Amino acid sequence: MDFRDSAEDAAFRAEVREFLAKELPADLHADDDTVLGVGVGENPRDREWLQKLAKRGWVAPAWPKGYGGAGMTVMQQFVFNEEMARARAPRPNFLAIGLAGPTIIVHGTEEQKREHLSGILSGETFWCQGFSEPGAGSDLAALQTRAVVDGDDYVINGQKIWTSGAHRAQRMMLLARTDADAPKHKGVSYFLLDMKSPGVTIRPLTNMADTPSFNEVFFDNVRVPRKDLLGDLNRGWYVATTTLDFERSGIIQGVSLQRLVQDIAAYAKAHGRRDRAEHSLRMELADRAIEAEVSIVLSYRVATMQAKGLVPNQEASITKLYASELAQRIARTAVKVAGLYGQLSKGSACAADGGRMDGLYRISVGSTIAGGTSDIQRTVIAQRGLGLPRG
Ligand SMILES: Cc1cc2nc3c(=O)[nH]c(=O)nc-3n(C[C@H](O)[C@H](O)[C@H](O)COP(=O)(O)OP(=O)(O)OC[C@H]3O[C@@H](n4cnc5c(N)ncnc54)[C@H](O)[C@@H]3O)c2cc1C
Repeated sequence: MDFRDSAEDAAFRAEVREFLAKELPADLHADDDTVLGVGVGENPRDREWLQKLAKRGWVAPAWPKGYGGAGMTVMQQFVFNEEMARARAPRPNFLAIGLAGPTIIVHGTEEQKREHLSGILSGETFWCQGFSEPGAGSDLAALQTRAVVDGDDYVINGQKIWTSGAHRAQRMMLLARTDADAPKHKGVSYFLLDMKSPGVTIRPLTNMADTPSFNEVFFDNVRVPRKDLLGDLNRGWYVATTTLDFERSGIIQGVSLQRLVQDIAAYAKAHGRRDRAEHSLRMELADRAIEAEVSIVLSYRVATMQAKGLVPNQEASITKLYASELAQRIARTAVKVAGLYGQLSKGSACAADGGRMDGLYRISVGSTIAGGTSDIQRTVIAQRGLGLPRG
């Protein structure tokens, strides 16, 4: 692994930095704290930022140029993601750009590409991911939402849960069972659901940080036209595993964690404690700073593998596991640094840093669940990384 940029990557890094210094409004920032719990950005000003990115062709770094993307190499994506994260630049419509768009590019008909891709690039269409169900999370293939053919439509009945951003999405990437008799991975299809369809009910779920970020979504005889089936019938499981040549290093999270540690250290300096806990807190903060650096180094490893044409597997799980558990340690340190005031929530007059410490603590819980729980990551590492037998 080489930590130095190649000459071309260094030039590209300088170009991205210059663009960010010139174009990113000083008062427009991504919310680092939501990275911990995979929040959904709601800032209406994100649209103007998206337009600036669009002028450079940088809205969708991994998409091929023919579809309006930047066609960046894996290493350029890594550099771009790192610099964007360091500048706290918002990444609006991240789910649509990172998941819906690439899946449509690979599996969509020409008509589907024409219908959906431009709305994603312009930020007009916000997408949500309707995969998890009350009985299907880690074991996603156990999903029970049904889609039955009726004339020119499929009729959907069932329920999704933990659907981030469904309350403001125009479209959903929906997995539903289309063959109840097939083995569970084989009877699933992938639909591009219009969220305004009659029979769709969205019920907000407030997370434990009091943020209304995810939802339950119910389907009561919802009619989806055949044209909104993506890929082949009953092959939805394989459609859902599609990615383009995406940079998968987790560098955005690593950089966000590092900045959080810096923020907490700045808070500690400004509100210096003069009690016996001070020394141990210093040591704890130093540990967190080193661990954030480790998280970034792990990301470099994944990016380097991808740049060499290798497919990171357990390496990506190690990075995810490490960063998400570190997020929780950082949040615990933040609360300790602020002492009892750290436990007060936003709205309380004495809350530390406007309630940020308490907010961090609560939002960080979701980080080890979203995108595959720690247990699932450990299983991948044990079986594929260490070659241990199935339990
Ligand atoms: C912040 C956040 C945002 C999310 N956003 C979305 C979204 O937009 N769309 C969407 O579809 N889903 C979303 N999810 C849901 C997420 O994908 C699931 O919560 C996750 O896959 C875990 O599934 P589950 O909640 O059903 O837990 P379960 O799978 O029921 O797991 C419960 C516990 O059992 C453990 N466990 C389960 N299976 C095994 C096993 N084989 N071996 C060892 N331990 C096991 C788990 O690790 C966990 O501790 C989100 C979740 C969070 C927290």
